[in-house]
Amino acid sequence: MNRGVILAAARQPVAVADLPLPQPAPGHVFLKMEACGICHSDLFIAGMETPPVVPQVLGHEGIGRVQSVGDGVTSFAKGDRVGVTFLASTCGECELCRAGRERFCARQLNSGYTAPGVLAGFVSVAAQHLVCVPHGLRAAEAAPMCCAGWTAYRAVKETAAEPGATIAIFGMGGLGHLAAQFAHHAGLRVAAVDVSAEKLALARSVGAEITVNAENAGRTLQKEYGGMDAAVVVTGSAAAAAQALRSLKRCGTAVLVGMAQAPAELPIVDTVRRGITIRGSFLGTREDLDEVFRLAAAGVVRPHVEAHPIDDAPDLFDRLSRGDITGRAVVSF
Ligand code: ZN
Ligand code: ZN
Repeated sequence: MNRGVILAAARQPVAVADLPLPQPAPGHVFLKMEACGICHSDLFIAGMETPPVVPQVLGHEGIGRVQSVGDGVTSFAKGDRVGVTFLASTCGECELCRAGRERFCARQLNSGYTAPGVLAGFVSVAAQHLVCVPHGLRAAEAAPMCCAGWTAYRAVKETAAEPGATIAIFGMGGLGHLAAQFAHHAGLRVAAVDVSAEKLALARSVGAEITVNAENAGRTLQKEYGGMDAAVVVTGSAAAAAQALRSLKRCGTAVLVGMAQAPAELPIVDTVRRGITIRGSFLGTREDLDEVFRLAAAGVVRPHVEAHPIDDAPDLFDRLSRGDITGRAVVSF
């Protein structure tokens, strides 16, 4: 039997359903999943007016074991342990693909969105962007590295902050609590920003030196800490992006990751006169993902995880939408 978490139709609650056992198509591998995390992007897709493919299996942050491979697959074999990310496949031919920036390929397919996801016991996925996962790493702790960890790691790098610099991380959820650890490991002084005292306590326990309540965080970081060299916004809130800009020192850099639906007002005069850089950051590079797994295996980053059986998935989606999950919720198979 193969059970998976599906979005049956637009704006339906997600459900656990019996699925047919997939066959690996050419270029695909057939995986027995070990674990898959639940990400805000899953919520985003489940809440869309017109999701591109329904019904669809959700999930894009998974660890699985190769059972068999389809025609043409030479890079993986039965028994390999692999990580699946949001980047299911890319064209491999465009300028961005050839420059190692596949994550911006206009012809990409995304797991659990435009390609089948991996919140299921057994899946068939494209081999193209899979990565090998260290054997010692527990599946429930490895899974969040495939989206939350990967994205957080790249976002911190995009700030180009040097050791000793200050960095504010807005949002201490699945991505934020990992971004704090990567930043701390890179020698940055971390200020964590969130509305939840519990999440700020977690941030402190993983290396955040400063914790600030989200309300008026920009002003607080300016007045009490002299402003930040960098800010990373991992929460999908336009208000947080505005606060992040307000928190920066002159010549500071803000990196936007969380997908806020509402537009944010851009203070143009301030941005110009203070030499502010604003960047978007999406997923990461192949090398980033290898590095993230290496750091996780070495115990440098430790995701705060709660693992659940698949039947709990609908409830986990509800809790995530209420901001009621500290760290990452993961389904273990
Ligand atoms: Zn994700
Ligand atoms: Zn491409």
